[in-house]
Amino acid sequence: MNKNTSFSFELFPPRVNEELRNIDEILENLKDLNADFISVTFGAGGSKKSNFTLDIAQLIEQKYQTKSIVHLPCIHFSKEEIAKFLTHCKDRNLKNILALRGDMSKDLKASKDFSYASDLVEFIKQNGDFNIFGACYPETHNESKNCIEDIHNLKIKVDKGADKLITQLFFDNNDFYNFKQNCALSGIKAPIYAGIMPITNKRQILKITQLCGAKLPPKFLKILEKYKHNDKALADAGIAYAVDQIVDLITNGVDGIHLYIMNKAYVARRIYEATYSLFYDKIGA
Ligand code: FAD
Repeated sequence: MNKNTSFSFELFPPRVNEELRNIDEILENLKDLNADFISVTFGAGGSKKSNFTLDIAQLIEQKYQTKSIVHLPCIHFSKEEIAKFLTHCKDRNLKNILALRGDMSKDLKASKDFSYASDLVEFIKQNGDFNIFGACYPETHNESKNCIEDIHNLKIKVDKGADKLITQLFFDNNDFYNFKQNCALSGIKAPIYAGIMPITNKRQILKITQLCGAKLPPKFLKILEKYKHNDKALADAGIAYAVDQIVDLITNGVDGIHLYIMNKAYVARRIYEATYSLFYDKIGA
């Protein structure tokens, strides 16, 4: 069976030690879904604590024999701190890093050493043998004036060594196709994995889209409105919407699907069950 399209998940670490057990349970439930990698967030909301991220990445690699990707935001760190972090990664044999700028926190000082993710990419390149991923934005990053400027900056990140890209979540595949075309025109050849978030509850999706600026197409808003008082139906419709996006993306030759599962293994399983044969060019005899 040849796998043509990468299939992966994002997990976020728990707030407290005791909840690490839940992550192990989630990973146990994900283990037969043939993920190509599982990425682990770090510092969303401005935290500087990384231990859980590294612990989870190590668990993914060692117990579940799956490739992990460690997210690393740099905007609140010095070169010394990042160098120490990279040493911890090396000590734990973690070789894949999603190099991020991160979002500014009001409570923390901005780094004197890193202004953009591309600065971090360059630093990582000089400090070890890592596979470096970068983030990208089909609807344009919310601080950019326009998509041309944003893609120009993305090209800098790729040229400095980000050799694979993962997109921010999006709900309209046309945004992704336009973005891909613009990347190709700018000479960006790195594979681009599409970030898909199946909605399972209305509050969560409104909060997340507010934070990242993803727009909600009319068809999607209708689903949210129609099933807002029926959690089960909303989750069913949200998963079906994501499946629809994925079928279209794979049909059009996407490099990979990266699922933002919000630590819900059942979401990953339902998507997998509805789409797994699409990830292979041939299944069975
Ligand atoms: P950059 O690539 O630095 O871009 C940020 C802005 O600066 C863009 O507008 C860009 O156009 C501009 N820019 C870039 N380079 C230049 C330049 N040389 N000159 C001028 N302008 C420039 N955040 C977390 O804190 N933790 C996480 O775990 C996390 N995981 C994420 C995973 C994915 C897949 C994505 C898409 C985002 C994630 N984020 C995470 C959020 C991310 O940190 C924010 O979106 C942040 O605002 C931008 O990060 P970046 O790495 O894309 O930044």
